[in-house]
This record gives sequence, C-alpha cells and structure tokens, in this order.
Amino acid sequence: MSRTRRGNFYIDDTCIGCGACEHACPGRVDAISKKADDFLGRFVIELDQCIDCGKCMPLCPVDCIHDGRVEAGFVPDNGYTKIAELHEWAARKDS
Ligand code: SF4
Ligand code: SF4
Repeated sequence: MSRTRRGNFYIDDTCIGCGACEHACPGRVDAISKKADDFLGRFVIELDQCIDCGKCMPLCPVDCIHDGRVEAGFVPDNGYTKIAELHEWAARKDS
C-alpha cells in the first residue's frame, strides 16, 4: 500500500515572493514554487513533496514560513489530528 508523504512546512499570506526559499529546497525535492496566477507572486509549499528538512525557514526575510508541528502545539501522542487539521487549513488557503 502506498502512502502519500506529507510535510509540515507552509507559507503564509505575507510572503513577498523573493524566491529565497525556493533555492534552499534540497536537490531532488521540488516542494516550493510560485503560486499559479497569484498577482503578488507569492510562493507555496507542496505538502506531499516537503521532506521537513527546514532549510527554507531561516532564509525567509519576512518569517512567513512555518513549521506546522510547532504552530499546532505538536504532541507526539495526539498531534496527528492537529496536523491533519492544519494541512486542510493550508490547502484551503492555497486553493
Ligand atoms: S522544509 Fe525542506 S523540503 Fe520542505 S519546503 Fe522547506 S526546504 Fe523544501
Ligand atoms: S523566502 Fe519567504 S518571502 Fe521569500 S518567497 Fe519564500 S516564503 Fe516568500
């Protein structure tokens, strides 16, 4: 049975489209790209491509990249539900 990988990093609406994060995303991963048809040129992280390396986060000049596990108050025993809710929230924001 195949399982879809889901990362935990997301970009909020304050992205200024500088592109620094895209260059940080490691070689074989193409998790960060410009949002299609976004007139502000903002970027988005594809959750099924992100490997949670965290390299993008410190490069963002406006601190708009977040680790959902931290924001959701991730707790190993019960964090799954919170993260799933956050993924759904992030997907709605990006649509
Ligand atoms: S955490 Fe790593 S893999 Fe995920 S978007 Fe950032 S640089 Fe790419
Ligand atoms: S580094 Fe931050 S501001 Fe620049 S494109 Fe990435 S998320 Fe947007």
